[in-house]
Amino acid sequence: MRHALEEYVRDAERRAGYRHVYSPVLGKRELYEISGHWSHYSEDMYPPMDLGEEQVVLRPSLCPHHALIYRSRSHSYRELPLRMAELGGMYRSELSGVLGGLTRVRAIQLNDAHIFCTLDQAADEARAALELIRRAYDALGIRPARYRLSLPEAGGKYVADPAMWQRATALLTDVLDESGVAYEAAEGEAAFYGPKIDVQIADGAGREATLSTVQIDFHQPERFDLHYIGPDGAKHRPVMVHRSVIGSVERAVAHLIELYGGAFPAWLAPTQLVVLPVSEAEMPQAAELVRRGVDRGLRARVAGPEHGSLGARIRAARLVPYQAVIGAKEAAGDQVSLRLRDGRRLDARSGTEALIRIGALVDAHNTDLWDADISV
Ligand SMILES: [Zn+2]
Repeated sequence: MRHALEEYVRDAERRAGYRHVYSPVLGKRELYEISGHWSHYSEDMYPPMDLGEEQVVLRPSLCPHHALIYRSRSHSYRELPLRMAELGGMYRSELSGVLGGLTRVRAIQLNDAHIFCTLDQAADEARAALELIRRAYDALGIRPARYRLSLPEAGGKYVADPAMWQRATALLTDVLDESGVAYEAAEGEAAFYGPKIDVQIADGAGREATLSTVQIDFHQPERFDLHYIGPDGAKHRPVMVHRSVIGSVERAVAHLIELYGGAFPAWLAPTQLVVLPVSEAEMPQAAELVRRGVDRGLRARVAGPEHGSLGARIRAARLVPYQAVIGAKEAAGDQVSLRLRDGRRLDARSGTEALIRIGALVDAHNTDLWDADISV
């Protein structure tokens, strides 16, 4: 399921013009001194490790690594916006008392990206990021609890340049106003380097958490001395848009588990198709259907009579979206009788037809079990 989620995000990002990178989870302490994490965020960081003359730390964020990748060569304004994405590890030194399941962990796999762009491009990039988030929520069946414009509060630990904060806040406010979504401003929730749009989700008890974010950052491009060559041949400072579509994979999975109680949309389900031969005699047909399903990219398996009566096997597979029963009659006609997780039983059809329809529903990342209007 986690792989399915990660593949979805990478594919959506690729189509949206992102380029994927890998960067290491260890960084020199200096890197975080430059970014400002060391002075603003060190309470949440693991203690540094001494390594000869230098100190290395488990990274608390991916931003500095991406800034260094950007800085590793010069860029023309024609290359912007340059969208750099990574599903990478970051670490937060939480005390054991505040850890909780998958929602609050010490090792976080973050769906992260940084867009390096001109100031004029930043609003469009923030808008496009919100649209990516909206589409992902549609596919996942997640409803945001609310959108939040997260601002600093007086006296907080932030990098100080009031003009920079005002510009970034005005930009995000415009993006939210134009998008038409309702949002609330919240003081004290900003990142130390800039304001952000947070997409909040709520659990069954109404407790809110941030899943997705879009941030405008003038601070780190300055600190890392990033630039691009403009049409005038001179050096200019890019803006960094930080954004995450599904946030930490751990938190996203935790939310989905709670939301669906294990009965996930077909494209996310750990097993998408279970094939149930009524007796030993239909095992060859069942194995062949699974082989063809797997070949088509589906997560399919056989649950044979050695696992109990047909009724018991159907109950055991109750969270699997599609169950294909093959009895003597179906086997003779090269057919399957499909049962859907919601209890519906469909007319017998050829195995090929069933696989094509299931495959198309999965490929469309649809939350509908069967009736979605998609072309096959
Ligand atoms: Zn970042």
